[in-house]
Amino acid sequence: MRLLLALLLVPPALGQDLAIRDVHLIDVEAGVVVPDQTVVVADGQIVAVGTDVGVPDGVEVVEGDGRYLMPGLWDMHAHLRHPIAPTIILPQLMAHGITGVREMGSECENKDDPVCLDQMLAWRDQIAGGTLVGPRLIELSSFPLNPPWDYAVAEDEARAIVRELHGRGVDLIKTYYRLSPEALGWIADEAAALGIYAAGHLPLAMTTAEAAAAGVRSVEHTRDLLFDCFPGSAAFRAEAHSQNPPPAVMRAMVEDHDPAVCDATFEAMIAHGTAYVPTHVTRRMDALADDPAFRDDPRRRFLPAIVWDSWQADADRMIALDPSPEGRATGRAFHRLGLDLTRRAHEAGVTVLLGTDGGDTYSFFGSSAHDELALLVEAGLSPADALAAATIRPAEFVGLGGTFGTVEAGKHADLILVRADPLTDIENVRQIEAVILGGRLFDRDSLDALRERVEAAVAAMDAEEAP
Ligand SMILES: [Zn+2]
Repeated sequence: MRLLLALLLVPPALGQDLAIRDVHLIDVEAGVVVPDQTVVVADGQIVAVGTDVGVPDGVEVVEGDGRYLMPGLWDMHAHLRHPIAPTIILPQLMAHGITGVREMGSECENKDDPVCLDQMLAWRDQIAGGTLVGPRLIELSSFPLNPPWDYAVAEDEARAIVRELHGRGVDLIKTYYRLSPEALGWIADEAAALGIYAAGHLPLAMTTAEAAAAGVRSVEHTRDLLFDCFPGSAAFRAEAHSQNPPPAVMRAMVEDHDPAVCDATFEAMIAHGTAYVPTHVTRRMDALADDPAFRDDPRRRFLPAIVWDSWQADADRMIALDPSPEGRATGRAFHRLGLDLTRRAHEAGVTVLLGTDGGDTYSFFGSSAHDELALLVEAGLSPADALAAATIRPAEFVGLGGTFGTVEAGKHADLILVRADPLTDIENVRQIEAVILGGRLFDRDSLDALRERVEAAVAAMDAEEAP
């Protein structure tokens, strides 16, 4: 591992002044292409956008050649708290056009962990200063607050831990499934009083609507919503001691699904301004764990063997829960129902945000954001709405809609240049020609170099781990 940390990547020059000429802009809000534009960048900011914009003297010119320029992607459910982040995770996020992340487990509960919040805060500064390649660490979170089942958290205790975590520098408190409804209420309330917020997995002892009313600002994972929308919900919540429902309960969630309950949940989320981060990419495994094409993904070469092996074990465990044809069909139906739920939530007016849980089983660092965009479109969002869920909606969610999330003068120059129009086919987001972060240009050659360094870091790590 020491060897790996010594391989820290050298980023390209800080914030050149740029002009990107002859590009079609993707307007993620209007869902249209604005043709034949020039974008001028100075000091990391977009300063002019238009057809008749002149190119200032002395700036580096990027010839767009009719390609498509869109805002950089934000991953609102990322996990980077790992020693391999600088060499393996962060550069892959950059290479795939992820320019901002909300990190969902930045502080460690166990102080012996190799990376904790202080390191994450240092990485945030290094990225901002241009000495470390990676997306902006927009928000950093606490460890999941998850007391033992038989432990009643007292109010002063709940409020004290929120104050302590806020003092350490987290932007949000991550909730988890063993919290009591009362404790969740105290945590959300104390967080709000400090100007931060609570978000995460929902306590099994309360519904999504109740958590929204208690002040949770974003609900993570489709699965948590599906727990609500079937007649066995109350019994499941009362008896469950795990957030993984047993096969029979999962089947009931699919077969007895009650859309009216979900509709009421959406209404509560809208009333309380609660966003929804489905992370479909994490549940796709339920559907495809026994599909050899899915299992043998060529992207494995960008993953250390230790991670890949843990994914294989996890996928095998998933199948073993119920390997019968009915069990496998339930896994596929659960995934499809989740996609349908997201369409309905979006149509009802719930704010959907893109999150990947990257590093979770079969969520590849960086490219899983492209997978999730495709899944949002498969769910029924338009490509423009899927892109908005990864750009302007997250920026608005964190209160930065005025400075991030679209290609407009006055905003940070966090941009992706793609070869073909992502509004006609969301898969075109994968065809990245260049990424710009705060005016720093990573052209295709630099992005390829990043990927090669990741492969080298993976090989070095595998060699070190080998017996
Ligand atoms: Zn997560």
